Amino acid sequence: MENIYSYKRVDLEKYFVCNGEKKFKALQVFEWLYDKRVKSFKEMSNIKKELQEKLSEDFNMFMIKIQKKQEDGLTKKYLFKLYDGNYIEAVLMEHDYGLSICVSSQVGCNMGCKFCESGRLKKVRNLEAYEMVEQILLVEADIKKRIASVVIMGIGEPLDNYDNVMDFIKIINDAKGIAIGARHITISTCGLIPKIEELSEEDLQINLAISLHAPNTQLRSKIMPVNNAYDLNDLIPTVKKYIEKTNRRVTIEYVMLDGVNDNETNARELASLLKGMNVYVNLIPYNETNHLEYKRASKDTIMKFYDTLKKLGINVTIRKEFGSNIDAACGQLRSKEV
Ligand code: SAH
Repeated sequence: MENIYSYKRVDLEKYFVCNGEKKFKALQVFEWLYDKRVKSFKEMSNIKKELQEKLSEDFNMFMIKIQKKQEDGLTKKYLFKLYDGNYIEAVLMEHDYGLSICVSSQVGCNMGCKFCESGRLKKVRNLEAYEMVEQILLVEADIKKRIASVVIMGIGEPLDNYDNVMDFIKIINDAKGIAIGARHITISTCGLIPKIEELSEEDLQINLAISLHAPNTQLRSKIMPVNNAYDLNDLIPTVKKYIEKTNRRVTIEYVMLDGVNDNETNARELASLLKGMNVYVNLIPYNETNHLEYKRASKDTIMKFYDTLKKLGINVTIRKEFGSNIDAACGQLRSKEV
């Protein structure tokens, strides 16, 4: 049996047509699911009884559960239990411009970034589209408010779960679905080149963020094993092509690791690597984890790095920090109950 929240509107249309029904039933079901937020097919009162029954034979609805919730000021972290006993996390953040949620895309992660806690558990499996959709629905139900933006930056590498992540985006972006504007949806990737190329062919105005974290390939290989498969010297031209094709500005994420990638030379090298590209660099203060060999760069060092990039004509911001007291910050999410 499939979960109804994994179905895009076109998939449901096909389902209805195949079952000798009118296509517009898909729209009605979408309204029940995402506008009225019903919890059962029985509540879909403009759908005839036999069809309600057929739907409940063919589909199930909720399957993930909120196991635990922690709060820290403007941040809430949710631990979800999946139908098979696995765990994932999502983080809700309150910004001045509205609520945003950071969702997970996999149970565990295989990318092996040396400084990240989420990869401690190797990938167990991909999340289905519904498991990503439900992270949003359950959090919205919990807070009784609508979320304005979604970042796919939780546990997992979204481009390593490409098809499900695309379905997820299309469902939440659908004006009759959760209706989150494409410009309010961000995918963050450690740089899977063929998938970035594939993404550039999608007709979606979403945001792309690249976890670069180093200004040259030698240093990147030391902290991100993915660089051995997809080298920085190939990644940068791929990002250039992506920008050309989509006309969208790309975010370059750069985590500031004390004594590793945070000196003046690193900043200059990064500036020359990115020169002329339509990107902005987001400097991320490192959140300390159980990877004790990595420490957070000092405020002063981060400011110097920022100033150097600025002077060299690179757009740069420093990521606002959320939730480190409840281990809800970047790189701290886990696929286990603790
Ligand atoms: N796999 C995706 C998305 C998940 S991580 C990716 O690599 O982009 C989201 C961001 O947090 C990435 O840029 C990641 O490198 C960064 N990150 C990982 N561990 C971190 C930590 N301990 N402190 C700060 N940022 C971290």
